[in-house]
This record gives sequence, structure tokens and C-alpha cells, in this order.
Amino acid sequence: MSRVFHRHLKASYPTAVAGDGPYLIDAAGKRYLDACGGAAVSCLGHSDPEVQAAISEQVKRMAYAHSSFFTSEPMEALADFLVDRAPQGIGSVYFVSGGSEAVEAALKMARQYFLEIGQPERTQVIARRQSYHGNTLGALATGGNAWRRRPFEPLLADTTHVSPCYAYRGQRADESAEAYGERLAVELEDTIERLGPRRVMAFVAEPVVGATLGAVPAVPGYFRRVREICDRHGILLILDEVMCGMGRTGSLFACEQEGVSPDLLTVAKGLGGGYQPIGATLASARIRDTIAEGTGFFQHGHTYIGHATACAAALAVQRAVEKRGLLEQVRARGEALRARLEQRFGDHPHVGDIRGRGLFLGLELVADRASKEPFDPDRRLNAAVKAAAMDQGLMCYPAGGTLDGRRGDHVLLAPPYIVEEDHLDEIVDKLDAALQQAL
Ligand code: PLP
Repeated sequence: MSRVFHRHLKASYPTAVAGDGPYLIDAAGKRYLDACGGAAVSCLGHSDPEVQAAISEQVKRMAYAHSSFFTSEPMEALADFLVDRAPQGIGSVYFVSGGSEAVEAALKMARQYFLEIGQPERTQVIARRQSYHGNTLGALATGGNAWRRRPFEPLLADTTHVSPCYAYRGQRADESAEAYGERLAVELEDTIERLGPRRVMAFVAEPVVGATLGAVPAVPGYFRRVREICDRHGILLILDEVMCGMGRTGSLFACEQEGVSPDLLTVAKGLGGGYQPIGATLASARIRDTIAEGTGFFQHGHTYIGHATACAAALAVQRAVEKRGLLEQVRARGEALRARLEQRFGDHPHVGDIRGRGLFLGLELVADRASKEPFDPDRRLNAAVKAAAMDQGLMCYPAGGTLDGRRGDHVLLAPPYIVEEDHLDEIVDKLDAALQQAL
């Protein structure tokens, strides 16, 4: 019996021993095409020589220096790289070790900002149902994934959740996309009015919802209206791009495609591409300067802030993405994969919707296409699809949450940006076989 406290204690896992571009290889030599980047993590694939060299060089020079004593060259260089390319207004970067930590830091920065400007009554967070912002208690309280929250509800801080922007299930048949977005904007503003605008600290949202809904972008104009509403009431906009950011949707930051700049922006997964655990909270110059000119100290921290080797790895990943023109490839291969999915599953009786952006695509699985009726949750279809795909040598991310408070199923595809056309064929063929096996 494994001594590892695995997350699934009744499952047995193959042992991953090697990576080869977009493939992982287990101890028996079986190859798995990583069609979901693990959890939208792997952007450069699993064996990039430039990143390997950057890590090894950094470890030889200096692996780590605690951030309360030193800054480091890789940390400074990575912050410069990100701020130079970040949405308007972003002025600095706080480095952490993953997505949940990035969200926690964003929440605390928001809180401290309002303390510094003399608005201590702003404590309320508004987020959206069917969202996921991480599993630590602050991030979990923010997220609206009912299943993940349920056992821990008594430990979670009070957060108000509004409707997600989820056209497949939320937009009415007689309603335009614009009217749908407007209805949600009105819901948000009504919620702010109800809570008391001067009590609200932040609105938190994923520009493209990942883990809970499976690659769902907002309708056009929604985020611009959200930005306007936040500005009108002095509320900070926190965009969580832990899953959809760092090029995954075809632009370095997903919010670029919405034409909005947040006050705080969280990234992780694709930042280090899995080569090292790293996340970041990008803060507006206004927030940073307010804290700098006030107490001058952000009252939050972890041991591995700005870990030099993690920063060196992330810098190498980001430079490689840029130098090799991989964002263009994300857009082109994303379109090609979507076209293949539509061709193969467009009329599939159990594929209700195919959606997403770039190499971040989702298929919603339904018992009945016409009525959008979900599968019986007791079937645990997600687990069955994942297992069948692994049998086929394909990794896809099976998640639930497409129904409010209940399960609902989808398959999330987020392959590395280096995938070639023949990998796309392999993804679609193996997914087809897995669905036939599982359904
Ligand atoms: N935020 C979003 C949008 C995510 O999708 C995730 C993870 O899936 C997180 C936060 C948490 O990131 P991590 O698992 O690195 O803590």
C-alpha cells in the first residue's frame, strides 16, 4: 500500500516516470497524450530543454534566498517581463507558489488597500456561482463550486455569489447575448446596492471559467459592464486567470480579449508550465503605491515567495512561449481542434455544447441534447470518461459543476501549446473512443 496520502485513497495510479513533449510516460512504458495539460498547467510540454537548462543553471548558482532578506535576479526579471506585457494599470507582481495562494494574496491586498485609504468597512466579496478560485479556505470561500465547498461550509467566510455568465444554460431563448450580459450586470449592481456599496471590497471572476464549467467565456461586453459597475462603486475587480491566463486562450492574459484591465490579476499554472510550482498576483500601480506610501508593508507572506528557481523556470517558459510564437500557435491549433471537435461531436447525442477559446475547450455532456437534461450524478460519468481516456492513453480533465448546486458533467481540453495537427487527430480519436466506452 502506498504511504502517500493520495487525494483519491481508493484509486490506484500509474507511476509517471518521464515526459516527452506533449506526452507523459508511465513506468510500464505506456504513453499518455496530455490533452489537458494536467489541469491546464503544461504549456510547453513536459521535456523542454531550454527550461531544463535554466532550472539547472539557477540551482547551481543559488536555488533559493528568503524574500525577507534578499530579492533575486530571476524574481526581478520575471516581474519586469510580466508588467511590461500586463494589462493597463498593472504595476507590480507578488510571487507565490500556486493559484490558491495567488487568490489569497489578492483578497488580502484588496483588504489592506481599503484599510490604507480609510475605508475599513469594505469587507464584502462578491463572486459567482459555479466558479473555482482554489482550495485554501479564503479562496474556497470565494469560489462558488457547491461540491467543493460543501464539507467545509462552516469554515468559510461569508461571500455573496451572483450568477455566472454561462450562455448555454443561462441565456434565455428569446434573449440576445447582449441582453443576457446586461441582465447579469443589473443583477450584480442590484446585489451591490443590497449589500451597501461602501461595504463591498471586491468582485472576483474568471474571465473564462475553467474547472467548474469547462472553458466558458463571457458574452461580449459583459466584463466591460462589470468594470464600469465596479468603478462606479469604488469596488476592486479581481480577475482570476490562474487557469485561463498565460496564453491559454490565445492572448497572454485572457482579459485582453474582453478589453478590460483588472485591479488585481491572479495567474499560476501556465506561468511555470509545471516545471516549478509558481503563481503570482499582479497588482495595479495604484494598489501597490497606496500600500508603499502607507504602511509600506503588505501584511501577508509565505516562505517561498519569489523562489529563485521557480522564477527562473517561469521566465524561461515565458520567454520560450514568446520567442517561438506560441500564442499564434494557440490560436491556430485552437481553431483547428475546435473544428475537429465540432465535426466529430457536433451531432453527438450526448454532447450538448462545444465551447472555449484558444487551446482551452470544453464539451458539456448531457443525457439529452434537446432538453439539456444532465446525466444521473450517481453514474459518476466524469470519472468514467477520465478512466476510459487513460485506458486509451489520453489525459482529459473531467469535471462537474455545470449545474447550479448539482453536478453536471464536462470534459475540459487544454493541451500544451506545442501540439501539432496529428496530435489534434489523436486527441479527437481517443476522446471519441473514451466517450463510446464510458457512455
Ligand atoms: N483559480 C482558478 C481559476 C483555478 O482554476 C485554480 C485551480 O484549478 C485555482 C485558482 C487554484 O490553483 P492551485 O490549484 O494552483 O492552488
